[in-house]
Amino acid sequence: MEGRCPACGGALRDWRTVPGSDPAWPAPVPLLRCAACASAVTAAPAPAQAHHAGQYASARAPRGARGVAPLLDLFDRQRLAQLRAAGARPPGVLLDVGAGRGRFVTAARGAGWAAGGLEPAPRGAPAPGVQPSGLEEADVAPGSLDAVTLWHVLEHLDDPGAALGRVAGWLRPGGVALVGVPNLASLQARTGGPVWFHLDVPRHRTHFTAPGLRALARATGLEPLHTHHVLAEHNPFGLWQSLVSRLTPTPSWLFHALKRNAPLTARDALPTALGLALAPVAVLGELVAGLARHGGTIALSARRTR
Ligand SMILES: [Zn+2]
Repeated sequence: MEGRCPACGGALRDWRTVPGSDPAWPAPVPLLRCAACASAVTAAPAPAQAHHAGQYASARAPRGARGVAPLLDLFDRQRLAQLRAAGARPPGVLLDVGAGRGRFVTAARGAGWAAGGLEPAPRGAPAPGVQPSGLEEADVAPGSLDAVTLWHVLEHLDDPGAALGRVAGWLRPGGVALVGVPNLASLQARTGGPVWFHLDVPRHRTHFTAPGLRALARATGLEPLHTHHVLAEHNPFGLWQSLVSRLTPTPSWLFHALKRNAPLTARDALPTALGLALAPVAVLGELVAGLARHGGTIALSARRTR
């Protein structure tokens, strides 16, 4: 037993040890769990240069990237709809923190936002408006933003409260933050257990539950508005990959193979091919789980109150 929960400040207790999720870091990883909000913490060092290795290594496009463009478009439209549901509508200034190649920044510009992005580890040429910068060194005027999105950023941080507090200060009073993270209290986390796709240890540092994420928001001066559990991005695939990882020797093999981060081996490929039959099960299962508020990832919208 050691330390405090980075989400809610509750006491952390020993929980379980799981295999490393990435072919580059297979060593076992101990996890601690919060007695109050049931979020968890990775109790092993973060991989050095995490954002430059493993799944983020390749500057080349993922295998099959072109075929999924309509799907990516759907993901962006859902994120924009979640902002609208929280009262954040263009015109206005939006910043996407952890913008990757800037796909969402481009989509937000197309929707009428004055959108920019920050990306600490840019791969390839970023989209217009994306600055090669992390949170800490970013030069953003306090109170200057109408909306900020952090899409799968906070789980990578040992101190997500410091990051969210900094971002909250960039919002004007009434401005909206939209925060996406994996949900440890999900059907797929339970289904995948130690090989849950979104566990992604040791890269992921904080494993949130919805109550934990809402507690963190409140502590940084953000009033929670909606917690979305039905998300097309990440969720059906996460459940499917978690099911198939129960069959393959390499956890999340297809995901890593697509990222050019795992070799194409028959003992992984064969069960994965058979597992394709589970795809409709995963889509339906994740929809039901999301409606029951146990979605594999969640998106929290929250408004700056002070
Ligand atoms: Zn907690």
